[in-house]
Amino acid sequence: MNVDLTPEQDQLRDAVRALGRKYGHGYFVEKAKTGGHTTELWNEAGRLGYLGVNIPSEYGGGGGGITELAIVCEELAAAGCPLLLLVVSPAIAATVINRHGTEEQRKRFLPGFADGSLKVVFAITEPEAGSNFHRLGTVARRDGDDWLLSGRKCYISGVDEAQYVLVVARTEDSATGKLKPALFIVPTDAPGLEKSKLDMEILSPENQFLLYLDEVRLPADALVGESLDAGLPALFAGLNPERITVAAMGAGTGRYAIERATEYTATRKVWGGRSIGSHQGVAHPLAHAAVQVELARLMIQKAAVLYDAGRDLEAGVAGNMAKYASGEAAALAVDTAVQALGGAGMTTEYGVATLLGAVRAGRIAPVSREMILNFVAQHVLGQDKSY
Ligand SMILES: Cc1cc2nc3c(=O)[nH]c(=O)nc-3n(C[C@H](O)[C@H](O)[C@H](O)COP(=O)(O)OP(=O)(O)OC[C@H]3O[C@@H](n4cnc5c(N)ncnc54)[C@H](O)[C@@H]3O)c2cc1C
Repeated sequence: MNVDLTPEQDQLRDAVRALGRKYGHGYFVEKAKTGGHTTELWNEAGRLGYLGVNIPSEYGGGGGGITELAIVCEELAAAGCPLLLLVVSPAIAATVINRHGTEEQRKRFLPGFADGSLKVVFAITEPEAGSNFHRLGTVARRDGDDWLLSGRKCYISGVDEAQYVLVVARTEDSATGKLKPALFIVPTDAPGLEKSKLDMEILSPENQFLLYLDEVRLPADALVGESLDAGLPALFAGLNPERITVAAMGAGTGRYAIERATEYTATRKVWGGRSIGSHQGVAHPLAHAAVQVELARLMIQKAAVLYDAGRDLEAGVAGNMAKYASGEAAALAVDTAVQALGGAGMTTEYGVATLLGAVRAGRIAPVSREMILNFVAQHVLGQDKSY
């Protein structure tokens, strides 16, 4: 087993780290507190090619895989800039269009993903269906060549920053009459699409929205793929990249928090000449969190390598485990860092409590820890499905 990155991946990691540090957590927090977006960081990362690392080179991208995109997600987060839009746009939406879109859709959309000028967010969650996507109620019906989309979505990230939203809906299967999933590329300014911002207790420049689709009229080519049969595989195509990149973001956030805390505990002295980090009651929880973050990173690397090798089923197991491990490790690392900093841990200046909401959400979204445990119990441990 090779645990080393390639020289190109190493260079990418160093370069993204440098970019992330140029902006830093202060920039991220300032944007979040003033209702701004991380547009400058996003645009610069796009110009430098970091947002399109996983897009095939014939469409202007870097020709790499999810391994490279995970590096970008992790390093920006490790610099205090965890960007959720990286997960929804280049990881989910670009992968779905690349793998299951028509050639026309690839030509139209992938160059924009490659340079970051295009942001496409992802809408699957619905108020009634929740974790159970089999209950999705957003329906697409034919009207001549067009489609008409109606339904409601919730917690959809970044709609205010994106040109399109990839909406998961259902259509009637003409052969069986049953409903089956279909994905539509919907302009965020389409008539009939309304958004309403949710008040979330997460300090982030990225916002979540309720979406209302009222007979949104779409041309035939808004459907991802050549036919309705592309729907289910297209939906599943987005899941592994989603889990792996969100896990990478969590691992980066964990690294960031531990770094902030250990810088502080190595120099803070309140008992004579000893640093507080010399007390095992302070150092051990940080060391424990560091072990958990590093274990998560190893699983992320495994999942990304399997995914890039086309081993989707194994990547699915590893990606879910990586997402679980990383979600727990990031939450532990941030909470432990806050504790190690004492009162300073709760200040904005020291930049760790600012991440409490985000890492808490990372145990719920985009897939909750319970749904991952259900998956592992069923598919790895061979237990009957309980729901
Ligand atoms: C910050 C944030 C950003 C998000 N961004 C997006 C986005 O961009 N696009 C999008 O589509 N969605 C997004 N979501 C939604 C997210 O994916 C869902 O919140 C998540 O999948 C859980 O669904 P739910 O909130 O409906 O919870 P529910 O399904 O109502 O579940 C509530 C609780 O019950 C547990 N539970 C449910 N069923 C079971 C079961 N069978 N066994 C055990 N436990 C169970 C869950 O794990 C959870 O803890 C976002 C959410 C957040 C918080």
